[in-house]
Amino acid sequence: MGFEDSLWHETADDDFAPRPPLAGDIDVDVAIVGAGYTVLWTAYYLQALDRGLRIAVIEREIAGFGASGRNGGWCSALFPPASSGIARRHGREAAAAVRRAMHESLVEVGRVARAEGIDVHYARGGTVSLARNGAQLIRARQLVEEERRLTGRLERLELLSKEEAEEMANATNVLGATYTPHCAVVHPLRLVRGLAGCVESHGVSVFERTRARAVRPGAVVTDHGRVRAEIVVRATEGYTASLRGQRRRLVPLYSLMIATEPLPAEAWEQIGLARRETFADLRHMRIYGQRTADDRLAFGGRGAPYHFSSRTRPEFDRDGRVHSALREVLADLFPVVRDHRITHEWGGALGVPRDWHASVGFDRRSGVAWAGGYVGDGVATSNLAGRTLAQLIAGESSELTRLPWVGHHSRAWEPEPLRWLGVNGGRLLLTRADRTEARSGKPARSARAFARFIGY
Ligand SMILES: Cc1cc2nc3c(=O)[nH]c(=O)nc-3n(C[C@H](O)[C@H](O)[C@H](O)COP(=O)(O)OP(=O)(O)OC[C@H]3O[C@@H](n4cnc5c(N)ncnc54)[C@H](O)[C@@H]3O)c2cc1C
Repeated sequence: MGFEDSLWHETADDDFAPRPPLAGDIDVDVAIVGAGYTVLWTAYYLQALDRGLRIAVIEREIAGFGASGRNGGWCSALFPPASSGIARRHGREAAAAVRRAMHESLVEVGRVARAEGIDVHYARGGTVSLARNGAQLIRARQLVEEERRLTGRLERLELLSKEEAEEMANATNVLGATYTPHCAVVHPLRLVRGLAGCVESHGVSVFERTRARAVRPGAVVTDHGRVRAEIVVRATEGYTASLRGQRRRLVPLYSLMIATEPLPAEAWEQIGLARRETFADLRHMRIYGQRTADDRLAFGGRGAPYHFSSRTRPEFDRDGRVHSALREVLADLFPVVRDHRITHEWGGALGVPRDWHASVGFDRRSGVAWAGGYVGDGVATSNLAGRTLAQLIAGESSELTRLPWVGHHSRAWEPEPLRWLGVNGGRLLLTRADRTEARSGKPARSARAFARFIGY
């Protein structure tokens, strides 16, 4: 469920035959847990630095089974936290450095895919974020002003008029929009499957259907044996809570998606998105969409419940209430969609640290490295994580290793039931704030206070 149900699974052109599991104890130089983007990018760049390294990837299911194989395919420069949160904690210079590194990352994903012959349907159309009520329009202006104040013209975030916005994405009730060129669309599953094949062909051992029970200094303990390694890397993102000793590190939040059948040219004349721009509106409970290479709309949103004790289960990938709300929101944005079939519904878990601040790090003494906590912005950020981890492990120092997320530690989430109450309370608060704003056109103070509370 979830993984097999997605549009990406149907269109990946892959037989998904599992690779063999680990067959007993082995010794390698680097053992990495979780075959998603983070791990595969890390393996890719480590190999580039040292072809002789013995690297083993340990994956519980198959490569791409996690969020990397199910996401919205926004290869964007979004980074948690946004520039305001980075500037507040680490200063303006750091905020600008993160912006530059993220801009490079989304270009780097396209470059490597091309160089390695991975057909990921990469198209760089930027992102249009629509303002569809008065409160969202105020937010659009504030976002543009704030970004310019903090990072100058680096982001090239523009405020669009109603007409300019409609020209790009002809949704209903548009009052204006923001636009950034720093986003590309990808077919997410092709990217992660292609990367797995690529690192394997360069000599990395990928063990699938092998569950890590514990990641500790010097070894990864699995169902099928022990992988002894001087360096171990943990990148299990939304599934981290299932590892021994990691229950309160990252909360799994479910994001759910739908996709339409391929839409005819007449429908696209009404909708726009001629350059395959990614699109959203500026509501608090995030929605996101892309026009796929085969002319469908793939559309998703957050808002699914958090499950007690940070559990992840295949049945959580579907939620009738949230999936039908997504159908409604998409049809509300682009009414022509009502004349066409929704062909796929799926979902997956992303990882959220307590302070909503992504991090990457390597403790040379223990040999343990980690990366993640991308809060749903991991497609390009994981590339930055992979490049950075490879340099940290190799002992190099560079602009990347000096970025403020390196070595950052979020505090642990609260024990249950406080965690359940807090996360689901926040979810309801944001949904209610969106409803209030749609009705009144005025910004809901509660949402702003919540954003400040979590440090975003
Ligand atoms: C529906 C959805 C939409 C999203 N949309 C976007 C988007 O448009 N743009 C964007 O930037 N980000 C998006 N994200 C977030 C993005 O997909 C993730 O941030 C990114 O894929 C994380 O990659 P990862 O490699 O760190 O984790 P994952 O891809 O989740 O990989 C973790 C892997 O670890 C494996 N694993 C877990 N536990 C164990 C264990 N004990 N032993 C062995 N293996 C284990 C899992 O099976 C999995 O394959 C979205 C996420 C979801 C769920």
